[in-house]
Amino acid sequence: MISTRKERELGQEAASEIEQTVGLVRDPALVGYVQELGRRLVAQVTQRPDASYEFQVADDAEPNAFALPGGFVYVTRGILALANSEDELAGVIGHEIGHVVARHSVRQFEASTPFALLFGVPSAIVGVVSPALGGILGGVGKLANGLVLAPYSREQEREADRIGIALAARAGWDPAGLPSMLHTLEREEALAGNDPSRPSFFANHPATPERVKDTTAAARTLTRGAAHPIAGTRAAFLARLDGLVVGPDPANGIFVNNVFQHPDLRLALEMPVGWKANNTPASAIAAESEGRAAVALEGAGEGDDPADGARRDGLEERLVQRLTRRTIAGLPAAQLIAQDREARLHLTWIAYQSQVFRVAGVSAIRTFETYRETFARTASSFRPLRADEHDRIMEARLRAYSVRAGESLADLVTRTGGIWKVEQTAVANGVAVAARLPEGFLAKVPIRQRHSARQPAK
Ligand SMILES: [Zn+2]
Repeated sequence: MISTRKERELGQEAASEIEQTVGLVRDPALVGYVQELGRRLVAQVTQRPDASYEFQVADDAEPNAFALPGGFVYVTRGILALANSEDELAGVIGHEIGHVVARHSVRQFEASTPFALLFGVPSAIVGVVSPALGGILGGVGKLANGLVLAPYSREQEREADRIGIALAARAGWDPAGLPSMLHTLEREEALAGNDPSRPSFFANHPATPERVKDTTAAARTLTRGAAHPIAGTRAAFLARLDGLVVGPDPANGIFVNNVFQHPDLRLALEMPVGWKANNTPASAIAAESEGRAAVALEGAGEGDDPADGARRDGLEERLVQRLTRRTIAGLPAAQLIAQDREARLHLTWIAYQSQVFRVAGVSAIRTFETYRETFARTASSFRPLRADEHDRIMEARLRAYSVRAGESLADLVTRTGGIWKVEQTAVANGVAVAARLPEGFLAKVPIRQRHSARQPAK
C-alpha cells in the first residue's frame, strides 16, 4: 500500500495533466459552489483523516465524475447539465469521495492515438521546444482525446455508492439523490447509444441492473442530518447552473474545417488539410493520418520579440543567433529548423498582441523533406482572426425557462429555441418526454448565443 504522501504526488501529477489536456471550468461562482458541497461532504468523513481533498469542474461536455488518487475529485460540465437537484449532485460527489476513502486506485488507460505511431522521435527533445507535443509523443498526453480511465470493479462501485449516500445523508441531503442521478445518467446513455469509446460515467463506474434499486432501498434506511442544503429548491439549484456552457466550449478555440480559430486570443491558423486535429487548453495539434508528422500551436509566453519566446522555450543562445527573422501576416516572426538524432523540427515563433506563439512541425529526419513545405505553409498561415469569423463563433448556455399553462416539452423547446432535442430535454430535466408539466415548472434549456469572452486570455 502506498503512503498518503506518495498517493497525493501521483494525484497531483494526474491533476495537472487533466488541467492541461481537458481543462478546468474557471467560473468562480460555479466552482465555489461545487467546492462547498465537497467540503460539507468531507466534513462527514471519519476514515482516513489524513487525506486532503480538492474539488474541480472539468471542462468536458461528456457527463462524468471521477476521483484521482490523493483526493482530487472532478465533476464535468456535462454531468452538471444533467443534475436536477443539489441532492443529486451531492450524491455523485459523495460517491467519488467514497472511491477516495476506500482507496480504490485509479489506473489510466493508454489511449491509442495516431501520435503514438510516431515512434523513434525522442519526446524529451521534442518536449524542450513543445511541451504538449513532447508529452503526446511520450505518451504523457494520453488523456488528450478525453478522459480515459480504467473502470472500477462492481464491488468497488457498490462500496462507493454506500459511502456516498451515507455522507450525503449525514451532511443533510436526501440520500435518494444518488439513485436519481444514476437513473438520469442511464437514460442519457441509452439516448446517446452505447459507444464503448465514449468517456461516459458508466465507462469507469460500471452500472448494474440493480444499482438504482439497491441504492434507493439503502437510502430509505438512512437518517438525514439537520443541515439545510445550499440551494434547496429547484429554482435555487438551476440558478446555480445558469449560463453553464453545454456542448463544445469555443473559449479554448475551435476548428472550422482545418482552420483553428481562437476567439479570445483572436488568432487563426490553417492546419494541413486531412490531418487529424486535436484541441486542448494548452495547444492545438494536427497529426498526419498515419502519425508520421504533427504540427502544434502553443503559447510561448508574453513579449513582442519572437526570439524571447524561443529563449523561454529553452533554445540555447547559439541557436537563437541562428533564427531567421521574417514577418507573417505583418507580424514579427523568427524561424529555425532544429534536429536531434531522430526528429527534425520546423519551428516558428510569432509575436502577436504582446504574446509569442509557437508553431512547431515535427517528423522523423528521414521523412522531414516530405513535410517541410506543409510545415512552412502552416506556420505562414498564422494570422489575426477576422471580425466576421469571430462573430460566427457560437456557444450554447444553459438557461431555465418557466413552462406555460398547457405547454408540452416539445412546445417549450420550439418556443425557446433550445438546442437539445425533446428527448434530451426530457432526460436532462428528469421528466418523461410526454409528461404533462405543471405551469411554472422550471425547465433547463441550452440556448445558442454568440461566444462571449469570460476569462482573461491565457
Ligand atoms: Zn464509481
